Amino acid sequence: MPREILFLNTMTRRMETFHPLEPGHVRMYTCGPTVYNFVHIGNLRTFLFEDILRRTLQAFGYRVTQVMNLTDIDDKTIKGAASEGVSLREFTDRYIAAFFQDIDTLHVERAEHYPRATDFIKQQVELVQKLTDRGHTYVQDGSTYFRIATFGAYGKLSGIDVNQVKAGARVDADEYEKEDVRDFVLWKASKPGEPGWETPLGLGRPGWHLECSAMGMTLLGESFDIHTGAVDNIFPHHENEIAQSEGATGKPFVHTWLHAEHLIVEGQKMAKSAGNFFTLRDLLERGHDPLAIRYLLISVPYRQKLNFTFDGLHAAAAGVERIGNTMRRLAHTPPAAGDGALPVSEVASFTEEFDGGLADDLNTARALGAVHTLLTKVNQALDSGGISVEARARVDSALRRVDATLGIVPKAEPVAGSDAEIDGLIAERTAARSARDFARADAIRKALTERGVVLEDTPHGTVWHLTK
Ligand code: AMP
Ligand code: ZN
Repeated sequence: MPREILFLNTMTRRMETFHPLEPGHVRMYTCGPTVYNFVHIGNLRTFLFEDILRRTLQAFGYRVTQVMNLTDIDDKTIKGAASEGVSLREFTDRYIAAFFQDIDTLHVERAEHYPRATDFIKQQVELVQKLTDRGHTYVQDGSTYFRIATFGAYGKLSGIDVNQVKAGARVDADEYEKEDVRDFVLWKASKPGEPGWETPLGLGRPGWHLECSAMGMTLLGESFDIHTGAVDNIFPHHENEIAQSEGATGKPFVHTWLHAEHLIVEGQKMAKSAGNFFTLRDLLERGHDPLAIRYLLISVPYRQKLNFTFDGLHAAAAGVERIGNTMRRLAHTPPAAGDGALPVSEVASFTEEFDGGLADDLNTARALGAVHTLLTKVNQALDSGGISVEARARVDSALRRVDATLGIVPKAEPVAGSDAEIDGLIAERTAARSARDFARADAIRKALTERGVVLEDTPHGTVWHLTK
């Protein structure tokens, strides 16, 4: 039986114990990037929340089928391709490749499916035809619109008031604000020079909202468990997805809706004009460690705004380093002969607190707090009575769980020279000290320090870790 998990469902506005429709198998749809540019760290915050969601569900014993769409046709991609004079495919291929590079850099696990909107034109057309059969659409100037007055539940996710909408008022843009709640476009007639498909709906292209309904239901079924995005997706995008999907099938589309709050920068909205707009590439160019960036972006629970600051990024780097240093100390310290100074029960209580945090609507701050409490206990034990073989094995498995779910545990870094060589030099230094040849002992320490190897003399012998 998988472990229980609680989610705050945007639809019901309540904390709910999660039960997938098919026991043990979670089907989830995560809105993906519009591939007209490099993704920014705000987008990445949302993709990392979805990565933590996926990894946690797996660690808790569920099988996960995740879909993330790639929006390769909308107002922005069409404009971008046109301004460069290249085909839509050539233009979007470039940013799809960059997107995969970026998520790989941040150790985001791959979803099962990454459908491109332009590969699902047939399914989108069929969905519009179904909606037409059920009386939800009308055609105006060659474009097909969804008449929101025909869908009584319109507004149930975002809580907007549909009574204020003027009958017949339409919106053609892919993105619009709550003040513009109107009949929205399903299939847009192509303007001269724009990409289009010759279909029974006429020469045109899908509106943005349509792809997620069509691809979600094709790949996950007409009803599935979880749908996510950031808060800006609630209206109009997800509201429209519900209308399109439930309008066509008459069945509930999604059970649990999860929305990440936005990332802001130094307290302000991230905007190119404000000069506080960062892509992952910008941060890597400034020399920041991908693992520290990942740590920072997951450190605040997803339902809260995350304020990105460079101080925060330095603190995150220190957090990652602390994990690495503790692991290295552990690796280079022989086990305590007896029970040692770290009771096995302390490690068990860590796992309880860590899993309990994640099970509480993915409270990553609580989970990270538990990790640091464990590191403190491990370091204190290493400073005093040492750690037994059994406690050590439990700590190793606890850290493996941290890595499986949060993905923030650094890999052992290659050293300037092999571990055996460093161990040999340390043994030579210990021998020199016993022989009171302090000049030789100091020379060895100095040589190692220059290679980034820091020595620490403990009651159990000398251990080492890397600076940085
Ligand atoms: P887009 O490429 O604009 O479709 O966005 C991809 C995902 O990133 C969507 O789920 C957006 O809601 C989300 N997103 C956009 N801006 C931010 C932000 N500042 N913070 C967090 N998520 C964002
Ligand atoms: Zn979507």
